[in-house]
Amino acid sequence: MKLFSLIAQLYTPYILSYGTPGLSSGKAGWTLYECVDCGNKYKHKGSLQRHIKYECRKQPSFKCPYCVYRAYQKHNLLLHERHLHKDMPEKVDFVSE
Ligand SMILES: [Zn+2]
Ligand SMILES: [Zn+2]
Repeated sequence: MKLFSLIAQLYTPYILSYGTPGLSSGKAGWTLYECVDCGNKYKHKGSLQRHIKYECRKQPSFKCPYCVYRAYQKHNLLLHERHLHKDMPEKVDFVSE
């Protein structure tokens, strides 16, 4: 994890040189990518792009078959199931709306 953050720091000036609409400065000089629609802030450009594409102004589309939990990404739902419903039998496909 340390190595990853080092790499992120090394690449940050390079990423910033692209210039991004909605870019705003965070505390301590850490630059955040801000969604112009809802104001959510992200440390990485890729996270913001993912948010805009899959999350922003959208309902989470993956519903847990065992409880009320909803996820934006199937991956997160799988993690949720693995942690909270690991005693449950293998289940069925996910419902996507
Ligand atoms: Zn947004
Ligand atoms: Zn659940």
